[in-house]
Amino acid sequence: MTERTYLDWNATAPLRPQARAAMLGALDRVGNPSSVHAEGRGAHRLLEEARQRVAALAAADPRDVTFTSGATEANTLALAPARIGAPGAPGAPERLLVSSIEHPSVHCGGRFAAASVEEIPVTQAGQVDLAALERRLGELRREGARPPLVSIMLANNETGVLQPVAAAADLVHAAGGQLHVDAVQAFGRVAFTLAQLRADSIAVSGHKIGGPAGTGALIRIGAAVAAGSGGARGARGATGERPLDPLIRGGGQERGLRAGTENAAGIVGFGAAASAAGETMAADGARMAALRDRLEAGLTEITPEAIIVGAKAERLPNTCLFAVPGMRAETAVIAFDLEGVAVSAGAACSSGKAQPSHVLAAMGFSPEIARAAVRVSLGWTTTERDVLAFLSAWKRLAHVLIKGRQDIAVAAA
Ligand code: PMP
Repeated sequence: MTERTYLDWNATAPLRPQARAAMLGALDRVGNPSSVHAEGRGAHRLLEEARQRVAALAAADPRDVTFTSGATEANTLALAPARIGAPGAPGAPERLLVSSIEHPSVHCGGRFAAASVEEIPVTQAGQVDLAALERRLGELRREGARPPLVSIMLANNETGVLQPVAAAADLVHAAGGQLHVDAVQAFGRVAFTLAQLRADSIAVSGHKIGGPAGTGALIRIGAAVAAGSGGARGARGATGERPLDPLIRGGGQERGLRAGTENAAGIVGFGAAASAAGETMAADGARMAALRDRLEAGLTEITPEAIIVGAKAERLPNTCLFAVPGMRAETAVIAFDLEGVAVSAGAACSSGKAQPSHVLAAMGFSPEIARAAVRVSLGWTTTERDVLAFLSAWKRLAHVLIKGRQDIAVAAA
């Protein structure tokens, strides 16, 4: 079998050795973290260490971290209109505004009714349109509506484009609302702190940073206060005033926000991955950016008509989304796969559905281009060999994949 080239890190990343080692250690331990005996206390300690590690990567307060089964659950936990049993509770938003390029787990509106969810457009560069957000917030205020909950991602999973989250937070807070940020793709890839984002909550995922799939967290300012078990913590933003409505009720784990015996081994792996990511993030970022630039330069040399989506905006260092008129992304992904290269058609979640990317459509690209976008995403073990393997595959494939570009066959022969 030929050597594989994995360039789909935005879909999922390989398990880091540190995460594997930590998980193996945790799997061999007995003890329910809620139990009072020594075994239980040991398990509890492991969980709390992992909480500190995950919090540290965003310079957050560990008490604000609620472990979940992933970012999909964390987003759903955050995006709730009102506490069950207390509709119309003070501070409970009735409306959710999301950017038009959100991941499906946010785009679907969480626990808001479809009619209460509105989209805020993005600019051609792929960034949320702050003027449109400000306009809509102003309209809602004039209509006397309750301040909304707003959800904007930190980095888009398809384009890698970074969003002006702190500026959005200022607008949302000035209007009395709250901002949730899906930080999945930026967490562990670019340095940020919760304070810099000025967000009320963020969602993060374990498997994108080299932890196990099925782990994630909601980091929410004032979560402990809101859960009623954190003691006096002072005013730390608007979020604490809005009690979070748990998705899963029962034994009171995770300060009452997420019942059920914790997935200790998974959480420990997530924590170890967060620490490992933090240690090498700056160096990995610089290396990935150089490799990504090399890949894009090679790509446009082979096919000058290739569009690098979002190239004009600040992007994650590891992501390249390119589209070529006349190409079909699904076909391209299969052809690359047969060449030993794993890439994806826009988002992994929409792969195989043959639907044009909603992100590209929102950026104003034609349906033809939106169907032609292939995402190449790099990670900490990506090497120059991987980039060269991708480029030589593209040289062989471009003429077959792009209608009307038979000339490349000659050039590549
Ligand atoms: N948000 C974004 C931006 C993502 O890329 C993903 C993963 N595809 C998710 C949320 C969902 O994360 P998880 O797989 O942990 O549920």
